[in-house]
Amino acid sequence: MAIAADVIEQVRSRVNLVEVVQPHIALRRVGRRWQGLCPFHAEKTPSFYVNEELGLYKCFGCNASGDVITFVREIEHLDFAQAVEYLAARAGVAMVYTDPGDNEERKRKRRLLDAVAAAVDWYHDRLLSRDDAGPARAYLRDRGFDGDMVRAFRLGWAPDEWDALVRALNLPSDVIVGTGLGYLNRGQRQTDAFRGRILFPIFNDQGDPVAFGGRVMPGAEGHKYKNSPETKIYSKSRTLYGLNWAKAEIVRENEIIVCEGYTDVIGFHQAGMPRAVATCGTALTEEHVRLMKKFANRVVLAFDADGAGQGAAERFYEWEHSYDVTVAVAAFPVARGVA
Ligand code: ZN
Repeated sequence: MAIAADVIEQVRSRVNLVEVVQPHIALRRVGRRWQGLCPFHAEKTPSFYVNEELGLYKCFGCNASGDVITFVREIEHLDFAQAVEYLAARAGVAMVYTDPGDNEERKRKRRLLDAVAAAVDWYHDRLLSRDDAGPARAYLRDRGFDGDMVRAFRLGWAPDEWDALVRALNLPSDVIVGTGLGYLNRGQRQTDAFRGRILFPIFNDQGDPVAFGGRVMPGAEGHKYKNSPETKIYSKSRTLYGLNWAKAEIVRENEIIVCEGYTDVIGFHQAGMPRAVATCGTALTEEHVRLMKKFANRVVLAFDADGAGQGAAERFYEWEHSYDVTVAVAAFPVARGVA
């Protein structure tokens, strides 16, 4: 997707590099420049400099250098177009592509992403504030998920009603069905996909919510987990739950922990190892491995010692050679969350 040159210029001029760098490292003003510990290599004395006026950075330790787009590409592991999109959203610059087809495609995807984001907010608010979510809150508390974790991972509650979400969102049916948030019943009425479940929003690696994993309350009917279907914005074999939060730590440690589910990922974060991800209700695929390889060379499998976990480990040893990653199987002393 080629992006209009004008958009790239606007992004470069409107976004302040210091503000983009600050969340990643502490910067200190030194004369006309800013100085800090380089986020791209390990060091104890700062050799990373930002020139705010010119919008350029340079590290005298590892020679990393560039502008705000380069910085976002490197730190977020995005390609050029993704980095511009990321910054444009932040700066309120409207994206324009040179190919009109790209503009349409992007608008369609944006509508779906916006709908899922609205659903995440709505479900999250239900969990935090409504009476009917009381048992769900109590259950999460019992399992050791405190309020901070619930907020950090944007957990939600889907009420046990037919159409509470779709009524609240009030969106056209192609969006409701296209996101998997709902479906049309026999009378062609929009109907919620998730009912009476605790929801784990699933984000893509750029940080946009794209889907949900929903867990039933203990004792309730239905499969333990129900997941969003594949959509235009959600491919299970290319999505790792938790990657959006774990990315920076994974790159820093050059290690990624793969565990079995949403609650394990949160458990690892709670235990001070915020570099865990999980597949979203599918087996580990080669595409997952390719995705992991973008961020780290060392993969630690933290699966239960049952059949499914073992199978994944065996497949992984085959990929190990083709992708130049090292794999270890480990049992971590992590308190199991909402298994
Ligand atoms: Zn450096």
